[in-house]
Amino acid sequence: MANLRAIGQTITLGLMRKLVHRPRRLRRTAALRNLVRETKLGTDDLILPLFVSEKISERHAIPSMPGVFQHSPDEIVDAARTAQDAGLQAIILFGIPTEKDERASGAYAEDGVIQKAVSAIKSKCPDLVVITDVCLCEYMSHGHCGVTRIDGEHFHVLNDASVALLAKTALSHAKAGADMVAPSDMMDGRIGAIREILDTNGFEETGIISYAAKFASVFYGPFRDAAESPPQFGDRRSYQMDSANAEEALREIALDVDEGADIIMIKPALPYLDILSRARQRFGKPMAVYHVSGEYAMVKAAVEKGVVEERAAVLEIMTSLKRAGADIIVTYWARELAQWTRS
Ligand SMILES: [Zn+2]
Repeated sequence: MANLRAIGQTITLGLMRKLVHRPRRLRRTAALRNLVRETKLGTDDLILPLFVSEKISERHAIPSMPGVFQHSPDEIVDAARTAQDAGLQAIILFGIPTEKDERASGAYAEDGVIQKAVSAIKSKCPDLVVITDVCLCEYMSHGHCGVTRIDGEHFHVLNDASVALLAKTALSHAKAGADMVAPSDMMDGRIGAIREILDTNGFEETGIISYAAKFASVFYGPFRDAAESPPQFGDRRSYQMDSANAEEALREIALDVDEGADIIMIKPALPYLDILSRARQRFGKPMAVYHVSGEYAMVKAAVEKGVVEERAAVLEIMTSLKRAGADIIVTYWARELAQWTRS
């Protein structure tokens, strides 16, 4: 031992300058590390996505997303209450209707799956922040996020006709009692149209979370199982963003801020930390990020194979999202995180 120390000293004296700064001093114990930790993750930062389906009478597991379920309309209030009991204060709802058509009628029906779920949840859990996803894909027979027109081989998703239906949908959610609406379609001008229709109908207090920079991503795969919304033809690249474009993302965000978005969302999460960080610095708006189904499924698969430990992996990922600039994280782990961040 004495010998080893002597060897260490010889090496040190031989190779190192006298150190004044030793950053490791602050990493020596857990308490010291806690004292200087810059990024803290808490339950208030989280939003839990919940799926409600008119097609089922009891909850149904989503095979590609272990631990995530579609809930029946009768069970959705319990699912919301369980989230609140776990300490969460916000959920975002996605609906699966029985009937789909080419006008997405179920999206804005007064007695639609979301409208009924929102009013049931708000009557039982009035303090829970209820956010609704506003899109048409789950309600369209073709699975696209807007109204389509087919010319021979080509199909188009019509912007302005889609915006009209999205605005109508957002208004119906506000009428049902949603605290915030979250348009995820990526049509141009929808934030302004939604703000306008909400304001002219007396819903000035209903907020808008804009999926301002939503990238066409391979990581949405499992969600389409959960929301039963895969496009029947074509893909979504004519409206969702190209993953290569950061400047364009910032322009998209600037437009949404200008049109009245209250919170800006980036989706997916980990592959887009640069966008999150740049948007955080440029816009003085609360920033949200959606850690999506494919990102969730990847970690779950790694956990199953024994490659990583779930809790540590999830905490590291979520902390990185906060560190990059997210104020709010939408995650399928919200309930578990409510526990993990407390203990
Ligand atoms: Zn959609």
